[in-house]
Amino acid sequence: MTDAAEQSAAAPKAPQVDWSSLTDAEWKARLTPEQYKILRKHGTERAGTGKYADSKVPGVYDCAGCGLPLFDSKTKFDSGTGWPSFYQPIDGVKGDNVGESVDKSWFMTRTEVHCNRCGGHLGHVFNDGPRPTGLRYCINSASLKLDPAEDEKDSDER
Ligand code: FE
Repeated sequence: MTDAAEQSAAAPKAPQVDWSSLTDAEWKARLTPEQYKILRKHGTERAGTGKYADSKVPGVYDCAGCGLPLFDSKTKFDSGTGWPSFYQPIDGVKGDNVGESVDKSWFMTRTEVHCNRCGGHLGHVFNDGPRPTGLRYCINSASLKLDPAEDEKDSDER
């Protein structure tokens, strides 16, 4: 096959999005009302109401705003809080995909965590997690979209 033929056979590229420049109205149009409230307005879903709180499905949890991979199901643990909880981001505690900021709302000082690509609010990280990191990333289900592992997709078809 020639180079030109290979190129034309390739799937068309998705349009590039400059995630940091989307307007509030554009985010509103892209997200469900629940996702918008949490990702863009720093909301919090009620404990136990999110769809991933108790999920054991293997796979990768992507940002519900922009699709960036954020957490691996292998690092998910049962925190008993009613929110999906992970002991580290997919690229590690000091990785690039999950950012941190100081949150002084509600008369507390907490560490807020967000998607480093689109800035979407995910939840908070606390120092009472399990080994090996001792951290608990307490994340809103609405901020995540699970991409199930390949073998999980296969087993659905069998
Ligand atoms: Fe994102």
